[in-house]
Amino acid sequence: MTAIHIDACPICEGMKFTPFLACRDNLATYKNFSLVRCESCGFVLTQNFPDENEIGRYYDVPEYISHSDTQKGIVNLLYHFVRKLSLRSKAGLVKKVSGKTTGDLLDIGAGTGYFLNRMKTDGWKISGVEKSASAREYAEKKFCFTIHPPEYLPQLPECSQDIVSLWHVLEHLEKLNETMQIIHKLMKDNGTAIIALPNLNSVDARYYKENWAAYDVPRHLWHFSPDVMKILAEKHGFCITAFKPMYFDVFYISMLSEKNRGSSSLVGLLKGFVFFLRSLSGISKCSSVIYVLKKAGDC
Ligand SMILES: [Zn+2]
Repeated sequence: MTAIHIDACPICEGMKFTPFLACRDNLATYKNFSLVRCESCGFVLTQNFPDENEIGRYYDVPEYISHSDTQKGIVNLLYHFVRKLSLRSKAGLVKKVSGKTTGDLLDIGAGTGYFLNRMKTDGWKISGVEKSASAREYAEKKFCFTIHPPEYLPQLPECSQDIVSLWHVLEHLEKLNETMQIIHKLMKDNGTAIIALPNLNSVDARYYKENWAAYDVPRHLWHFSPDVMKILAEKHGFCITAFKPMYFDVFYISMLSEKNRGSSSLVGLLKGFVFFLRSLSGISKCSSVIYVLKKAGDC
C-alpha cells in the first residue's frame, strides 16, 4: 500500500504528533489505522492513510450506504427515514443563513444528488461535484441532472456562488487547505459556506473511543472539533458565524458504533437517545456540527 504520511500538521504546520487512538476499518478491510494529535493545535488526523489511487477500494463495499438506496435492516431503514427529515432541515438552513429563497448553490461531494435535487425543486440554480462515478451516474438517472467530477471546480467562475455546501465531505478530502481556498474563491462576497463535520469532542465520541463510527478510518482522513475548525476557517480568510447541531446523526453513529463493539443496533439507538439529551446542553457535545462560514470581510 502506498501510504500518505503526514509530517506537518495541515492546520498549523506543527511537526510533533502524539498517538491518539488506534482504530479499525470496520467496513472494507478490517485493517488498523493510527490516529495522531498535533501537539501544537490539537488537530487529530489519520496517519499513513492510503493515497488517492488506493483509497477507492476502501469505499467499495455494499455497507457504504451513503451511496446506496438499499432499505434492508433497521440501520438502513432509519438512515432513509432520517434522510427525508434531514433534507428538509438542510433546505431550511440554506434559506436561513443566506437570507435568500433562491440563488446559486454548489454542493461539493454531492453523492447521489438528493440534496441538490431538493434545492433544485426549491428553485435554486444548482451545480455539484462528486468523485464517485457510480454516484454521479445514479444522480443522472434518478434526477436527470449532471453532477460533475471534481476537476470541474476550476471551471466555475470566481465569486459565483451564494452557497457552497459540504455535507460530511471535508473529512474525506486529501487536499484540505486547497479545498478551503477553492471554497473561498468560488463564494460571492456575501456568500455562505456550510460545512458539516463529525465532532470528536462529542459525548458519543468520548464514550465509544476507538469504536466511534465517525472515525471511519481510513475514509475519514481528518477529525475535527469546533476549536480546530475555527483555526482552519480563519487561516483561509473566513469567520464562523454560526455553529449548528445535527441532532439526528448521533442515533445513526451510535448504532454503528455498537455494531463495531459487537453489540446490537437497538442498544445503540437507546444510547443515542441518552447522548442526544446530553448534547442539548451545548454544541460542542453534538455528534456532528454544521459550521456556517462567511468571508472575513462580511462578518
Ligand atoms: Zn496543528
